[in-house]
Order: sequence, then C-alpha cells, then structure tokens
Amino acid sequence: MIQITFSNGEILTPTKIVCIGLNYTAHIAEMGSKRSHTPVIFLKPNSALHPILTPIPIPHNAGVVHHEVELAVCIGKTASHVSESDVFDHIAGYGLALDLTLRDMQKKAKETGQPWAIAKGFDHSCPVSSFVLKEEVGDVNNLDLKLEVNGSLRQQGNTAQMIFKLPELVAYISRFYTLEEGDILLTGTPAGVGPIQSGDIIHASISGVASINTTIA
Ligand code: MG
Repeated sequence: MIQITFSNGEILTPTKIVCIGLNYTAHIAEMGSKRSHTPVIFLKPNSALHPILTPIPIPHNAGVVHHEVELAVCIGKTASHVSESDVFDHIAGYGLALDLTLRDMQKKAKETGQPWAIAKGFDHSCPVSSFVLKEEVGDVNNLDLKLEVNGSLRQQGNTAQMIFKLPELVAYISRFYTLEEGDILLTGTPAGVGPIQSGDIIHASISGVASINTTIA
C-alpha cells in the first residue's frame, strides 16, 4: 500500500479508491457504450495503488491492458451527504492517475453481467503521481489531459469535457460512500485509450497538476 504525497510534504493514507467510468462523451463512443443518467461508479482496492514514477508491472496472459489517463482527486475532509456547493471544502488536492484496465476481461464481464473487480482492480492498476494542493490549481474544470506512448499522442482532452463535473460527482458518491481524508477519486478518461505492453515509455500530463514520464515494466 502506498501513501499519497503532496507538494507541501503532507502525506495522506487513502481508505479507498472510487472511480468514475464513461464520463467523457468521446470515450463513451469509442467504447460503444451508452451514456448513463447517473455517474458510473466502481472501486479499486488500495493494493492497486502504485507510485507512477516506478516502472509499472502489468499482468501477462490476461489479455490486453489499456491506459486511461485521469484527473485524480484527493479528499481532505470526511464527506457524507455533502451538497454540491460544499464539495470543494472536502477536497485536499489533485494528481494524475492511470486507470489501467484489462480490456478483454472487462469486455467479457460486461457481456456476462459480471463485475469489473479484476479487470479494473488488479495489482498496480492505479499508478498515481504526487499531488498538488487545490489552492495551487486554477480552474479544475479547465485542465488539459494528455498521454503519449513511445512518443505517439494517444489521449488528449480537457476536464471541461467531463459529463459529470466534480461537485456533482463528489455529492453523488457521498450519498452512498462516506469519503474519508486521503481517499482518491478518479474522474474518468478522455478518448484515445489503447494497449500498452512491457517496455513502453509513457508520458502523461495534466496542466498545472503533473507531468510525468514512466515505463511499463
Ligand atoms: Mg477510467
């Protein structure tokens, strides 16, 4: 289990990782999925956390692994049944995460109505950067996201394209899950997801939040 480190040296320990799926229209289209009227929520276990700058191990012989670059949010204060207008009081800061996905396994799970627990929650499936305090980030609804594999641009988007914005997401999740200090939310990925394999070099960035280079082990 890893901890969340902040630009000011603060360290927080998450109790859970809550992920939002299908939150960018173009990604819904590339998945051949339908837009949901409520946020699509799933969890990753804490054992999925991985320091993003350390080469990232991925499963072998379990089908294709896809990259998904996402804005990660770290909760700073317990949130239960919060109103949208109070959400930012409960946020500590922001980081960059990869929502690594066993895509073949997820596709099979969708087809058979089974959960995505392994497809989305395997070891190291949630590499995270260090985090910056919310005060250091400008408009969180206008951040550019980008991911390159071996120098080729794969994903490019902006948080303005999120269907459910942060206040709505946190308020919604907090109706069902009490969010604790240190908990991590992944807010969905823009279009351009694709396969990664051992030896790939990844560059990913979110404007004003993180810019990282790493490799797939
Ligand atoms: Mg995702």
